[in-house]
Amino acid sequence: MNVKEMDKAYVAGTYKRFPLEIVSGQGSIVKDETGKEYIDLGSGIAVTSFGIGDAGWKQAIIDQMNKVQHMSNLYYTEPCARLAELLCQKTGMKKVFFSNSGAEANECAIKTARKYAAKKHGPNCYTIITLKNSFHGRTITTLAATGQDHYHELFQPLTPGFVHAEANNIEELETLVNQQPTVAIMIECVQGEGGVIPLSPEFVSAAAKIAWEKDILLIVDEVQTGNGRTGQLYAYMHYGIQPDIVSTAKGLAGGLPLGATLLGDKVQDVLGFGDHGSTFGGNPLCCAGALSILSRLDDAFLAQVREKSAYLFQAFENAPGIEAVTGLGLMIGLKTKKPAPQAVAECMEKGVLCLTAKDKVRLLPALNIPMDILKKAAQVILEVCAQ
Ligand SMILES: *Cc1c(COP(=O)(O)O)cnc(C)c1O
Repeated sequence: MNVKEMDKAYVAGTYKRFPLEIVSGQGSIVKDETGKEYIDLGSGIAVTSFGIGDAGWKQAIIDQMNKVQHMSNLYYTEPCARLAELLCQKTGMKKVFFSNSGAEANECAIKTARKYAAKKHGPNCYTIITLKNSFHGRTITTLAATGQDHYHELFQPLTPGFVHAEANNIEELETLVNQQPTVAIMIECVQGEGGVIPLSPEFVSAAAKIAWEKDILLIVDEVQTGNGRTGQLYAYMHYGIQPDIVSTAKGLAGGLPLGATLLGDKVQDVLGFGDHGSTFGGNPLCCAGALSILSRLDDAFLAQVREKSAYLFQAFENAPGIEAVTGLGLMIGLKTKKPAPQAVAECMEKGVLCLTAKDKVRLLPALNIPMDILKKAAQVILEVCAQ
């Protein structure tokens, strides 16, 4: 059997894979099993922040590998402590819990919010308001948080205590908050899986204000939007708000599995001994990789992310066959005249790998993609969409 046949025979059928086996890569270029090269505009779904095999990132992991690859959380390790410090310094948050994925980072956010509210407001205060069309993960609880029915249908009963408000509808949010004791409001500043749709600044400000006034926690899911993706370190920073809890993962460690839940002033001491844990969470290799990424996401670097974003918006807006361009930073959605899966297949044929999100073509290039490669890829997308 070749790899594709073996995969089909033995790997659970949860992924509709593209007919492509990726065997190697460097930076924003990946190679398939026949040696054909592609420009990668997906970055493993916003994971490989500095592309494939970035030299500094690799060296940081190798150096740590030569010391110790894993230790249980019963002991201190340096990368974990240093990464937590750097995350807090860069955000003003106070403490960090490390896990291995976005769903787990959100689970920790939800547990923290529930415990905060139970202690402060009693056992009837447990509801968390999330948004329709959101995506927060695939565990039973984060599915409940996810405001898209089609993910829910065959997995009932889900964790109770989640209600979904329409995005950008301040009135509905207020109504829901007043209908029941509410623990938290949880948002993605840019809905990623939901179609790369930024929330309106008015709505995000109103949500933050409502949360502040009613002692409701504001949780921002930065799993996809975080770590420089939108041209700020975290997307909430575009909106001038200070969340109580921030969850992140995907791009944080540049390609190793790491989730982080950042805890602000109000909730920094909510979790105590035994309240939560993770065997792999804070793994030294993952944290060393993340330190290499995060330490390079400075103002100058973020400025070049915004420049590349501006270039793409300019290239795609009003282009033939492209009806709308949405998103923020290097998280871009294209509403194309032809169906998104067809556009993505044609781009692949021409050597450019894109993603979809709902009915959009979704672009999540590496944050350090060289401008000439980005221009070449944009040219291919423009050609495909115009046909
Ligand atoms: C991808 C994603 C998740 C889930 O992350 P996993 O690492 O797949 O568990 C959660 N929230 C958002 C916004 C995401 O984009």
